[in-house]
Amino acid sequence: MLTVEGLRSRYGRIEVLHGIDLHVDSGEIVTVVGANGAGKTTLLRCLSGVQPLSSGTITFRGEPLHLVPAYRRLARGLAHSPEGRQIFTNLTVEENLRLGAFLYTDERVEKDMDDAFQMFPILKEKRNLVAGGLSGGQQQMLAMARALMGRPFCLLLDEPSMGLAPIVVQQIFEVISGLKALGVTVLLVEQNAFGALKIADRGYVMETGRITMQGPSEELISNPRIREAYLGL
Ligand code: ATP
Repeated sequence: MLTVEGLRSRYGRIEVLHGIDLHVDSGEIVTVVGANGAGKTTLLRCLSGVQPLSSGTITFRGEPLHLVPAYRRLARGLAHSPEGRQIFTNLTVEENLRLGAFLYTDERVEKDMDDAFQMFPILKEKRNLVAGGLSGGQQQMLAMARALMGRPFCLLLDEPSMGLAPIVVQQIFEVISGLKALGVTVLLVEQNAFGALKIADRGYVMETGRITMQGPSEELISNPRIREAYLGL
């Protein structure tokens, strides 16, 4: 579904991604875990096209994605739920969801909205309220639901657990797990390595702009170095 080869990216003269190789197969949940500042957000921004690559390639569904401008990438089937959620706080929950479906005018938009409300019932209760009044967890749900309204084949999720209470984190991770059954492929970037690895099929560890370890999630969870450095075990 998604293959990244030799991806480098920089802010000004400072290179922060030093040649990333990774792939996500159709139907997988893949996570990239790593400390604050490792480059995870920059990687997702390169994938959705809002951060330029200095070299490397991105192949999505058999086509070179790095040549496609950011504004066309959702239509190709790649949606991004960004760091900090970036919802429209002055608009209602429903308006945020409709913006996620801006590509579509067909009747399926209403069905997609019903599906989103089924996934996150609290959003249905609050559909006519402004999104800025939602709790952090509810805003995260809205950001994910809005991205799903774009009908992606692959969803990029940047730190969905950030700043949320453990019970809400658990709820969010359960929903991500459930995306598999809906046929949505997921690339999940997280500092919460344990939570992310528990729901992912495979994982990559990123350290200062490089992938330093990779493998099936169970292998990474039982790796002594990862247990000590990332899982606090
Ligand atoms: P976080 O969990 O804090 O989001 P991250 O792993 O996602 O961390 P990035 O946000 O991608 O890491 O940052 C990678 C590096 O790039 C860091 O050293 C960061 O300071 C730097 N960086 C990020 N954004 C910018 C920017 N707009 N200008 C300059 N440097 C930046």
